[in-house]
Parts: sequence; C-alpha cells; structure tokens
Amino acid sequence: MRRFDLVVVGAGIGGGSLVYNLLAQGFRGRLLVVDRGAAVAMGATGLSAGGFRNLWTTPINQRLCTHSAKILAHFAEEMGVPIGFRPSGYLFTHGPEAWARVPLAAEIWRENGVRFELLSPGEIEDRVPGLRCGIGEVDEEVREFLGLEPIVGGVFGPDCGSFDPSQAAQGYFLRAQDRFPVRPELGFGIEVLSLLFGKDGAVTGLRLKGPSGEETVEAGQVALCTGPWTNALLQASGCPPEELMPVISQKRMLFVTDLPGQDPRWRDIPLTIVDQGIYFKAEGDNLILGKARKDAPDSLETTFEPDYYLEEINLVLQERIPAVASCRLKSGWAGLYDTCTADHNAILGWHDAHAGLLLQVGYSGHGAMESPAAGVCLAELVLDGAYRTHDCRPLRGSRFREKDLVEERIVI
Ligand SMILES: Cc1cc2nc3c(=O)[nH]c(=O)nc-3n(C[C@H](O)[C@H](O)[C@H](O)COP(=O)(O)OP(=O)(O)OC[C@H]3O[C@@H](n4cnc5c(N)ncnc54)[C@H](O)[C@@H]3O)c2cc1C
Repeated sequence: MRRFDLVVVGAGIGGGSLVYNLLAQGFRGRLLVVDRGAAVAMGATGLSAGGFRNLWTTPINQRLCTHSAKILAHFAEEMGVPIGFRPSGYLFTHGPEAWARVPLAAEIWRENGVRFELLSPGEIEDRVPGLRCGIGEVDEEVREFLGLEPIVGGVFGPDCGSFDPSQAAQGYFLRAQDRFPVRPELGFGIEVLSLLFGKDGAVTGLRLKGPSGEETVEAGQVALCTGPWTNALLQASGCPPEELMPVISQKRMLFVTDLPGQDPRWRDIPLTIVDQGIYFKAEGDNLILGKARKDAPDSLETTFEPDYYLEEINLVLQERIPAVASCRLKSGWAGLYDTCTADHNAILGWHDAHAGLLLQVGYSGHGAMESPAAGVCLAELVLDGAYRTHDCRPLRGSRFREKDLVEERIVI
C-alpha cells in the first residue's frame, strides 16, 4: 500500500498555494495531490473573475487579502508565470442608504491602513465612461420597476484589481514540482471516494478511484481543498451531520460582451460594482460582467443561462450606461461558489472531530483573493502547529458550533 505523509485533495488555487507554501517552508515528507479533474484549476479556480480587494471590514479578511495582493503583485517575477495582474482598483458605487454606512467602514480602513478614496458622483462618472449617477433621465416607471436609485457616492480601492487565478494555480504547481528537493506527486483524473479514519477519529488514509481502478492509500494527514464538493466527501466517509460544514454549492455566472463604445478609457476602468451587485471589469476588448443570484439553490448544476444576463444585468445596466444597450453577448460560463451559509467566510484549519484533517474550504466567492495568503498560514499550521503570519483562528471550523461567526457587519 502506498503511504504519504500528506495528501492534498483539490488542485485549484487553494491546493496549489498550500502545496507550494508547504514546500517553501521546508516540508520534506511524501506529498500527494489528487484531483478528479484532468488538469490544474478545473474547478472554480478556472472559472473565476479573479477580482481581489482589501476593502473588507473584518480584520482577518483584510489581512489575508492585503497579503495576497502583495504576493500576486510579485507573482510573475517570483514564480516565473504571468498571471495577468492588473491593479486597476475596485469602485463600489452607492445609493443613499448604503452611502450612509460608508463612514463606519472608512473608520475601520483608516485604523488598519487600508487605502481608499471617497468619490463624488462626478468623479465616478470620470472613471467609467458614459456612466450616469443620476436617474433623472430614466423613465419613472422603469426606475421603479428596476429599483434604480441615484448613485450619491463611491469608494475606490487603489490596492485592488484582478488577476488570472488559473495561471496562479499553474504557477504554484509548476514551482512546487521544480523548485524544491522534494517533488510532490500529482494525480489527475483521480477521485477521492472516501476518507478513512481510525477508531479515535484521526485520518488514516483515503480510498481513491483512478483510470487504473480503486486504491487505498495511507496518509498521516489529509488537506481538503475541495470547494463545494467537501460535504459530499465527508458524508461518503461516514461523517455524521454535525461533522459537516455549513457549506452549500451555488451557481455563479460570468458574461462576456463587447466594450460599450470606443472610448479608450474603457480599457482602464476599475472593477466597478453598481446597482444591486452588478459588477464589471474590462479585459482587452471585452467587458466581463456578473451578478450573484440571491436565491441560487444548493446545487451542482452549472448550465449557462444567457437570459440571466439580458434580464438581470443588461436591462438594468443600460439605464446606468446607455451604450451597454448595444453590447453583444459574446460568451460566458457558469461555475460554483462554495458558499458558507453561516457567515460567508472561509473555513481554515484542522477539523476538530478528525485529527490530521485540514480544511481550506467555504471560500464563498473570495477564495482566489484569499488563498495565496491562506496557503502561507496553513503551511505554518501544518509545519509548526500554529499560525505565525496571520492568526486565522477566527476562520476555524468549530466557530459555527461555538457561535463565534466572522461577520462582515458593514457590507459596502
Ligand atoms: C463565476 C465565479 C466568479 C468568481 N469570482 C471571484 C473573484 O472575483 N474573486 C475571488 O477571490 N474569488 C472568486 N470566485 C471564487 C474563487 O474562484 C474560488 O473561491 C477559488 O477558486 C476556490 O479555489 P479552491 O482551490 O478552493 O477550489 P476549486 O478551484 O473549486 O478546486 C476544488 C478542486 O477539488 C476537486 N475535488 C473536489 N472533490 C474531489 C474529490 N472527491 N476527489 C477529487 N477531487 C476533488 C475538484 O475537482 C476541484 O478541482 C469566483 C468563482 C466563480 C465560480
């Protein structure tokens, strides 16, 4: 029987960051990475918008994202893999009610050294060509039907932007393979059927299924970087409901259109968030747009729905930016968020019912921007038994039972 010191399940950016950082910090044991996909980044990582921002109000999200942004800024030179790092900034626009909450958030950012600028409607319009903050020109019935309100102010985060998480995951795994004295073994097309636990609950191994059949491997430790498939694996391993995580799987779509007009400034717009969570960013000649469906069911279904763009995004956005009316839908895709229903934050650290079982799951749509730093911290936890760089204990899995949630109280 093959034996490994650590098996990492999941070859997305979460698994990649963990594996690379373990090796960078001196892990020299036998390391196996398995993923049921045919290559790196076949889960959410390859379907992500890749936005990163440090405009959070909880210290742990702020710290992880600020640190990740620094890692990403130097990723290409340090890892030898370009990741399309674009520090274009984030621009949150606000109606009157949300704008009234901004001073509280601003106080927290100031205290923590997070850079931000407050923008007037005129300054917002300068940054996004053709955007109208006022709604005076919108027909009153349309205004009411779409729930449009005037934009009265905006928050610009200069240390935010976007990158390609798939390339970053590639970079992590490439360098993990050729930079250290020990090479991890990578197994693609391999499904983990179940985790094996000893009588005391500690991890002892995994049951795998690959192209050449089923295999049991022994493992001293197992790290789950398995996104929305985590609970299915825990259930298949015989874990009772109280050992599962409050994580569901929600479909999220991205849409690709032409840029709205010829104005060259479109290529440099910040990642912009307007009416009821519609967000968009420029990528070359394209606009990438998305909006989370509030009531998305818990499902692994990923059918792409062009009508969602037309009805939920284009219809509203063309009132805000009239040129959007003529934007042609070119393509798009659907992926899955591993949404933590309790507080919409990641679950990092050891599973408290199973010694040796490490969790890096439940990222709730911010895993691309948090996992570069989270990998540094989790590697410390594995190697040293404690966090050194950032104390990620607020994100421990037991917080749900302990009713000690990590809530973003000021949602901007
Ligand atoms: C449309 C969309 C837009 C997004 N936009 C952003 C954004 O702007 N900013 C941001 O920070 N985040 C964003 N996210 C979220 C981000 O992409 C994820 O949080 C991040 O990629 C999670 O990485 P991961 O490695 O944890 O999971 P994944 O990339 O999902 O990888 C999990 C892997 O585990 C494997 N796996 C699971 N179970 C098993 C098993 N039993 N056996 C073998 N393999 C298994 C899967 O095959 C998969 O490859 C977005 C996500 C989507 C879908």
